[in-house]
Amino acid sequence: MPGLTWSLVWPPLLAAMAALLVWPLFGPVLALALFAACLLVLLAHHAVNLRALARWLVSPPGTEVPEGSGAWGEVFNAIYESSRMRSSGQLQLNAALERFQRAAEAMPDGIVMLNEAGQIEWCNPVAETQFDISNRRDHLQRITYLVRQAQFTDYLAAQNYAEPLVMKSLRNPDLTLSIQLVPFGDRQKLLLSRDITQLERLETMRRDFVANVSHELRTPLTVVGGFLETFEDAEHIDMTQSRRHFQLMHDQTRRMQGLVDDLLTLSRLENNQEKMSEETVDVRALLQVLYKEALSLSDGRHHLRLELATDRKLLGNARDLHSAFGNLVSNAVRYTPEGGDIELIWALHDGEARFCVQDSGIGIEPQYISRLTERFYRVDRGRSRETGGTGLGLSIVKHILTRHQGRLEISSEPGKGSLFCACFPARRVVA
Ligand code: ADP
Repeated sequence: MPGLTWSLVWPPLLAAMAALLVWPLFGPVLALALFAACLLVLLAHHAVNLRALARWLVSPPGTEVPEGSGAWGEVFNAIYESSRMRSSGQLQLNAALERFQRAAEAMPDGIVMLNEAGQIEWCNPVAETQFDISNRRDHLQRITYLVRQAQFTDYLAAQNYAEPLVMKSLRNPDLTLSIQLVPFGDRQKLLLSRDITQLERLETMRRDFVANVSHELRTPLTVVGGFLETFEDAEHIDMTQSRRHFQLMHDQTRRMQGLVDDLLTLSRLENNQEKMSEETVDVRALLQVLYKEALSLSDGRHHLRLELATDRKLLGNARDLHSAFGNLVSNAVRYTPEGGDIELIWALHDGEARFCVQDSGIGIEPQYISRLTERFYRVDRGRSRETGGTGLGLSIVKHILTRHQGRLEISSEPGKGSLFCACFPARRVVA
């Protein structure tokens, strides 16, 4: 600052020049006295400004820089400029930090920042719920003191973080977490946790599904394979006995065919990319066809009745509706003992259209009802198989109804009978 040097030098120089001018006129004593007085004023000026500077230095941050004159004016200006730049830098830094914190808080995954000693420096709300820890309460607590699970402590101690750790949450055993440790900075660590409960559930469903399909196919294949082996080893074939064997093999292949058909239907329904084609379905005509099919399936063993209480039609997919209604009707026939009553009803109810199948069959215990639409779920496995069931029928019905924004209502009483209703919203009903 060249200006500052000049501002410091010129006042004493001016005082010296004034003393030199006075000297020849009033003598040396007065000249020196004038010079001393000027220096005193200057000293007092410096003292006042120095005090203002000292006060400002100990004042709280944000206090305004004092105003000064002469060289002090320049000093205070320079201090003001630098403090202004520093506080704007600080503000930017604070804003960036706040943005980062808000982003980390909004993350759907848990984040815990650990220091070198494995103590919690910060964590987001998701991590708080997943690990049952608190950002405020547990600050600088060792994470291993709070998450006391052997696999977790072993994972942290092993120092091999290439693979994530999958573990159940201690607080909520229904929650499955995938945990990954990422070292960063100066021996700090970032603990990332992700809720993979849904993924795990899907994986279990996939495994169960493959196991179920294999199991369902194994029995008929064993039967057919067994008969074929017998034929292979036989010297000569007894046609009367063989006819019975062929019939059994035929039954088993029909069973496999039914299973494969149902699996293909399910896979088509689950493929959401394919848009459902819609038309106005004449439900009365459809139910008359189904009624005839039921008569032939029942083969005179039941009293069947068809009640068409409305002539309303339905906006939907004819093939899918035939399949859904057909499943409900065939279930009623299969699960109603000889002599029982089965009623098919098409009616309007509270603006909704309903197709209901009422039977006086074996009925279902209440605890099983909510599981009936699960794939391969059967109350009585033996009876289902005997009557040609695949365990996929109601699952198909549920999918079809969902695609029509409808729902399946089930009420049943063991030993008395069941009522299955396919309900459709008013907007699907065509006058
Ligand atoms: P399945 O091919 O075994 O009949 P579904 O998915 O159609 O498979 O039905 C699932 C289970 O629901 C059946 O195994 C049976 O136990 C029960 N169920 C379905 N409909 C009836 C009914 N009308 N009466 C009694 N039980 C039924």
